[in-house]
Amino acid sequence: MDQTEIATQFARMKAGNDDRRTGFGLVQRRAALGDLASMVRRNERAIVAALAADLGRPEAEAILMDYLNILQEIRHARRHLRRWMRPRRVWPTLATFGASARVDPQPRGTCLIIAPWNLPFHLALGPLASCLAAGNAAILKPSELTPTCSALIARMIAETFPPELVTVIEGDKAVAEALLALPFDHIFFTGSPAVGKIVMAAAAKTLASVTLELGGKSPVIVGPDADLKQAADWITFGKFLNAGQNCISPDHLYVHASVKDAFLATLRARITHAYGSGADSPHLTRIVSPSHATRLSALIADAMEKGATTIQSNGQSGQSVGPHLMEGLQPEMRMAQEEIFGPVLPVIPFDAIDTVIEAINARDKPLALYIFDRDPARVEEITRRTTSGAVGINLTLLHYTHLNLPFGGVNTSGIGAAHGEAGFRAFSHERAVMRNRFLLLPLLFPPYGPRVMRLVGLIKRILG
Ligand code: NAD
Repeated sequence: MDQTEIATQFARMKAGNDDRRTGFGLVQRRAALGDLASMVRRNERAIVAALAADLGRPEAEAILMDYLNILQEIRHARRHLRRWMRPRRVWPTLATFGASARVDPQPRGTCLIIAPWNLPFHLALGPLASCLAAGNAAILKPSELTPTCSALIARMIAETFPPELVTVIEGDKAVAEALLALPFDHIFFTGSPAVGKIVMAAAAKTLASVTLELGGKSPVIVGPDADLKQAADWITFGKFLNAGQNCISPDHLYVHASVKDAFLATLRARITHAYGSGADSPHLTRIVSPSHATRLSALIADAMEKGATTIQSNGQSGQSVGPHLMEGLQPEMRMAQEEIFGPVLPVIPFDAIDTVIEAINARDKPLALYIFDRDPARVEEITRRTTSGAVGINLTLLHYTHLNLPFGGVNTSGIGAAHGEAGFRAFSHERAVMRNRFLLLPLLFPPYGPRVMRLVGLIKRILG
């Protein structure tokens, strides 16, 4: 689609905002969500094949991460939609005695969803489920880096939804920029913090509201009282699922010096058990593109040149990058500065938890923080003294699938939240409605004679 076609399509959708406000109620929204679920189920094999083609993703990961997460999101929305949509009555305050009031969740209107490549289906269709649940129309732009998935999303959506309700516009940065120039009612962006800033700057031109689901460097801490086997199991899962290409993958690991050797031995054995000792395990997703794989090898080379050492390396063969454990991270290394977003885990030993907390608080606020420790006081202390989008205790990644938890970051790791009711709210405008029942305020209307002034004095004593 060129710029003119995009603008025409957008205008057609936006013209439908008025009708959707009244005509896209509970029944229609549940039906649209049902259509979305059937579409995904019908195309299960095609989804698995597209993920294999673009990312070499093992079927287990394709089903668990993309396919089932979408169906869970839809099922949860359908089940709870009536309650989410219900206007919420609120109590009057002293100053508004005599009025009734409520909050109505309204559709925002026509929304733009821009998705990344790392979970190409879930991060496009998950937000779409929330968007439809909230009664909106959407233009969806999948990532150009997973072209088979993008083409499949475009085909499935075109077969399932009328274009004035959901339209997929495929393309790269230039297409995204053309879309961002339009006055959307809401923009839901998932991607890197760098592009998040570009999206927010574009939204500032039209004052579109934004939800930004970004990333960053999520730390994991293995404390002195950690269950080392449990920590090794979950960190192997969290770091190497999708070859570390998840927004909430542990980025770097702090381990208490007293357990370091025992923990690393357990972790290495766990990694070898899961992925063998080479780069091309069939259980490991590929790196998305040759340039992303080159970036990772450059990160490793840069760290080695500046004094880092390898604890374990399963090597690299083109886009297949095996698990790497590194030691000796220094602040000047790229690996210490950039989001790693790959199967490379730097390990940093520590003696005092204060130094870890200070290091975390000195950086951008992470999307996730993971703590492995059986001492509840230590876990509580770390949790209270830091901030992050989420905290996982004795687990990794799984908070992502908990639909009763908001999923989002803070500042550089994101603005707003997604999933479940939080996703519904992201795509809704909370409209305040207040009705006069027997408000006494007219007694205070001008002219401000002695009677009004006596009343003002009385009210001041009550409310002041
Ligand atoms: P990206 O920011 O490069 O791209 C995301 C989307 O933005 C793509 O559709 C792309 O076409 C588009 N885009 C690229 N340049 C643009 C520009 N100048 N203007 C407008 N749009 C543009 O991110 P990515 O590489 O696809 O994904 C990896 C990043 O996403 C990581 O930082 C990761 O942490 C983050 N992420 C966050 C979440 C989350 O839920 N918080 C989930 C997955 C990934």
